[in-house]
Amino acid sequence: MTKIESWGRLSTPAHTLVTLSSVTNAPDIIANTRGPSLPYGNGRSYGDSCLNPSGTLWETRALDRLISFSSESGLLTCEPGVLLADIQRLLIPRGWTLPVTPGTQLITVGGAIANDVHGKNHHRHGSFCDHVTTLELARTDGKRLTCSKEHNTDWFAATAGGLGLTGVILSATIQLKTACGPWLTTESIPYHSLDEFFFLSDESESEWEHTVSWIDCTSQRGVRGIFMRGNPSPRRDIPEERPQKLSLPFIPPMSLVNRFSLPLFNSIYFHQQSKRTGIQIQHYKPFFYPLDSIKHWNRAYGRRGFYQYQSVVPRKHREDATAEMLNEIKRSGQGSMLAVLKTFGARQPPGLMSFPMEGVTLALDFPNRNTTTLKLFERLDAIIRAAHGRIYPAKDARMPRELFELGYPNLQKFQNFRDPGISSSLSRRLTGS
Ligand SMILES: Cc1cc2nc3c(=O)[nH]c(=O)nc-3n(C[C@H](O)[C@H](O)[C@H](O)COP(=O)(O)OP(=O)(O)OC[C@H]3O[C@@H](n4cnc5c(N)ncnc54)[C@H](O)[C@@H]3O)c2cc1C
Repeated sequence: MTKIESWGRLSTPAHTLVTLSSVTNAPDIIANTRGPSLPYGNGRSYGDSCLNPSGTLWETRALDRLISFSSESGLLTCEPGVLLADIQRLLIPRGWTLPVTPGTQLITVGGAIANDVHGKNHHRHGSFCDHVTTLELARTDGKRLTCSKEHNTDWFAATAGGLGLTGVILSATIQLKTACGPWLTTESIPYHSLDEFFFLSDESESEWEHTVSWIDCTSQRGVRGIFMRGNPSPRRDIPEERPQKLSLPFIPPMSLVNRFSLPLFNSIYFHQQSKRTGIQIQHYKPFFYPLDSIKHWNRAYGRRGFYQYQSVVPRKHREDATAEMLNEIKRSGQGSMLAVLKTFGARQPPGLMSFPMEGVTLALDFPNRNTTTLKLFERLDAIIRAAHGRIYPAKDARMPRELFELGYPNLQKFQNFRDPGISSSLSRRLTGS
């Protein structure tokens, strides 16, 4: 048994690891594994959706081959363990990019599909699975299914955002988007109220492909943050790759993020960023993946680890619900500098269990202070429940089952596509199996 932790480092349960290293052998291995098992990508999910304590994890990182690529159509077929970072690194210089990419590129294609991940351009390009044209699924009964928006469409919809519970994805075909080069034209604008944030978001949707904002969850002077927007730049030169230098080499005994360091950091960050407003040409990495430059940054929260609470509320409740949540968080003195507020557009989700809905999403890290933190989450849950919102399973380690059922109205339908040989800590907690 090997101890495995997810990105939030809340626990390190023991697992039996089974490495899948060839798509030819993988279906037999999957069919012959005994007991509850779960596909595992790169462990970048914060909570327990990628954990299966005392059970088996099928490691997929070694399934990392690019199978085919057409430089005419931009169709890429690859194995599920390929990292988004590798696709970006290899194909941006050839004029193609992933159309949707989350806040880290250190995730696998399998993980991106299983959580139907979103980026900063949901209003323009939806979520990851909107661009997956076909996927191959291996089930524990030995069956293999090819699913697309034309064939086995219901299996496709169940697997997009299906939390790895419908089978193991063995390959995927993704429609990439043309790219001039690795640069973006970006603009940062400080904002001083939620009204201003929503005005900037709405106003930017037609002209800007990417929008996101950092929000100061500690400010005693009302709401403030930095709104960032970006568009692909025509600049084409490819800078030399620089090796990653920054790292947090040890786990501090207690969180470096606390009620003393947090307001100080936020205030310095807000004032520094407020001076850097205006248009810039920026490489895609610091714009899309600012945290990837610090290896093991998740250790900063100390031995007890941390939670991320990411919710979305529908557009009609966006002002009130966001204000209420921010007030609760501020009153609690918890939270962290990693706080993101952004809007999602009006789009039909590709998956039965896709997280995004038209509205606003707030994502915040919280150092684990046990019941103090969990009590705050109960108060935030009440706001989400009243606003008919939902919580993102990719980030979750504790949402109540009833809130999951309310937030995901297709859950019953989804359950029909579950693979009975697969379960996770999250699925047992939220569905009983
Ligand atoms: C710094 C940071 C920023 C992030 N920003 C965003 C963001 O902006 N938007 C967003 O949507 N998410 C974001 N995330 C969350 C992350 O994108 C998702 O949790 C993603 O699913 C992690 O992928 P992974 O490869 O690490 O998979 P894991 O975390 O290992 O697994 C995730 C799920 O995928 C399943 N899975 C993995 N491989 C397969 C396979 N081959 N077949 C079937 N199922 C499989 C697992 O069973 C599990 O349910 C962020 C995470 C971090 C750490």
